Amino acid sequence: MSDRKIRVRFAPSPTGPLHMGGVRTALFNYLFAKKQGGDFILRIEDTDQTRYVPRAEKYIIESLNWCGLNPDEGPGIGGNFGPYRQSERKAMYKAYAEQLVESGWAYYAFDTAEEIDSLRKEAEANKETFSYGIATREELNNSIKLSETEVQQKIDAGENYVIRFKMPANEDVTEIDLIRGRVTFNTTKSLDDKVLFKSDGMPTYHLANVVDDHLMEITHVIRGEEWLPSMPLHVLLYRALGWEETQPKFAHLPLILKPVGKGKLSKRDGDKLGFPVFPLEWTDPKTGDVSKGYREEGYFAEAFINMLAMLGWNPGNEQEFFSLDELTKIFSLERVVKSGSRFDPEKAKWFNKHYFQQKSVEELTKLFKVVLAEKGVEATDEKTTAVVAEIKERCHFVSELWEQGYYFFKAPTEYDTKTVKKRWKEDTPEKLREIVALFSSVNNWSAETLKEVFSVFMNEKEWGFGAIMNPLRLSLVGGNLGPDLFVICHLLGKEETLARINFAIENIKK
Ligand code: GLU
Repeated sequence: MSDRKIRVRFAPSPTGPLHMGGVRTALFNYLFAKKQGGDFILRIEDTDQTRYVPRAEKYIIESLNWCGLNPDEGPGIGGNFGPYRQSERKAMYKAYAEQLVESGWAYYAFDTAEEIDSLRKEAEANKETFSYGIATREELNNSIKLSETEVQQKIDAGENYVIRFKMPANEDVTEIDLIRGRVTFNTTKSLDDKVLFKSDGMPTYHLANVVDDHLMEITHVIRGEEWLPSMPLHVLLYRALGWEETQPKFAHLPLILKPVGKGKLSKRDGDKLGFPVFPLEWTDPKTGDVSKGYREEGYFAEAFINMLAMLGWNPGNEQEFFSLDELTKIFSLERVVKSGSRFDPEKAKWFNKHYFQQKSVEELTKLFKVVLAEKGVEATDEKTTAVVAEIKERCHFVSELWEQGYYFFKAPTEYDTKTVKKRWKEDTPEKLREIVALFSSVNNWSAETLKEVFSVFMNEKEWGFGAIMNPLRLSLVGGNLGPDLFVICHLLGKEETLARINFAIENIKK
């Protein structure tokens, strides 16, 4: 085992958009493999056709690519262990299910869905739960109860059947989970006879998953905690198929918890609390409902990845910022915690702010120009760059550059009523006219010169500073916001500054 190449897989089912918890699973797999020079494989587990959602696979691949978690093998990528979509491997599974029937580890079951349903209802009426397994299978419609001839007759008659795993009775299945340590399940107490092969000719998750992990030479299965209860069945399947020697090691990742309250972060929490739970925006193909994505909300992939890495893992010191490359160097499963980690949307923003601030003015300008184009705003590169440099520090997102700086590109036509009420006095228009006259005479239109000229003028006039500064700001930006007033004047340019003040004088009415 020790000299095998490390190979891990991320094995999502294309049943909808990838949840951020799924991205974290992919991330931890990726980091684990890359740290050790191993392979990171994408396998699409699409055996449950009733839950198949078109475009989900494309979404999954696009999400991984956005995050920089590029698989070494997978659908559309290739590799020596393909195909990487289980539906395309369909023909391989049946033989393994039959092998298990022959060796006595599995059996045919002919019970119809209605029969099982009525057994379930009957049990419920007695306040019990029906389980197809050790306690019940001998009385049911299967190859354990029926004679060989009866079974053959049914098969020949084309009756539908499934193949079920025959759980051995009263055995403690123990396995070392790399995160949780020793885990033991008792077969009689907690396990039923799971279906391995369905009547539609498809394997179930359990069979396909184990067969593929074996055939793809997977060395470590790193997945969410919700799969922990499946581990004993999988361990028994390796045993039953004679693959114990190369059975992968297991690591079950802790849950990501809701920001408030109890329980796991669900797809619906995002809508309720206003943050994305998906990496990319997703449009439901049936309902047309749109769910927010981190990418579209303006998060940088670096920030999203960094934030996810810290959910359930820590470096053992105070450092919080890590690039994907750095994570690749220091990640280890030993530092993954056992208990769930609470997701904090504010922290996600905080991470984004960090990466936002790290970007150069040029990079941000490039991104901001896309926003300006969407708003139908035309501006010179010089002005856009200057505005970005000025307001960058206040922002977490590229979109905030607009929220914090739109007035540099669009003259106000409406004015904040509260500020007008408080700051616009009877004599304000008259005073502002004098400011227009003053500013008209300034030729060197820099913030410093304007400030100086203005100060000298104000000292002479002995007007209160606020009496002018506030209405002036109101005229230029429409409200009580923005950086230094003279910086605003400078960035707007002389003509625009004067035009805005004149427009305000004409249009602001108490
Ligand atoms: N197809 C399973 C899922 O959707 C994979 C679980 C596993 O990694 O074994 O999560």
